[in-house]
Amino acid sequence: MFYLVEEFFSIQGEGKYAGTPSYFLRTGGCNLSCEGFGTSYCVNGLVKYGCDTYFAVDRAFSASWQKIDDTNAFISHLKTEFDTIGYLPHVVITGGEPLLYAHDEVFYAIFAWLVELGVSVTFETNGIIEINFDKFPLYKKAIFALSIKLSNSGESASKRINTTAIKKITDNSDESFFKFTLDKEIIDSSAFNEIQNIISISPDKKIFCMPVGESRSTLEANDKAVFAFCIKYGYNYSDRLHIRIFDTTQGV
Ligand code: SF4
Repeated sequence: MFYLVEEFFSIQGEGKYAGTPSYFLRTGGCNLSCEGFGTSYCVNGLVKYGCDTYFAVDRAFSASWQKIDDTNAFISHLKTEFDTIGYLPHVVITGGEPLLYAHDEVFYAIFAWLVELGVSVTFETNGIIEINFDKFPLYKKAIFALSIKLSNSGESASKRINTTAIKKITDNSDESFFKFTLDKEIIDSSAFNEIQNIISISPDKKIFCMPVGESRSTLEANDKAVFAFCIKYGYNYSDRLHIRIFDTTQGV
């Protein structure tokens, strides 16, 4: 059983596959809360802070999450969606933290069906969960966008960096890359050292840096600093196309 927050067909807005038509499955729940990213929202009159997908992280929203516990029914639903699209899109499984469900029977069966169908599947993960690649070998065929959180997330290093989990993913999967979220303040202070420390776990992987920004205005406040940072250190710049184009609209 896993929780699905939303699903939609759109274009991947960030990372190595930015620009690729993709079917998104957003799962519910996360092992971090990343209050440092500063997106504010209201629950029962209380102002809270989190990331741009707080609605998939904070269990205060779980009443609106869909419980997926029937593998065949969900596969049949996806078949209909793909028929409507008219071709097999790239599938992005994001969250929250989708790998919370990595060892769940229903989740793995749906992922296995996608792989066997020939679909490219990207997991957008914070890289904390240790995947058992021996027991769940098809995960070797997934693409892992390792969005390891930096200190600007507001989370402690011990909570957000799991060296073993990162190494397992980079060693076992066909493809993985790092993606970091930066703002002007961290660029001026510790970003370079923090990134160097994380990428030393798997030094041969591509590195993408993208600006913090849950809205077009926040993105514009940080994008030039990230752009210059990437040029200085030889990292790849990633924009957030969906925010650049649709601003704060969800499900696009
Ligand atoms: S790890 Fe990702 S989804 Fe989870 S709270 Fe942090 S930014 Fe949000």
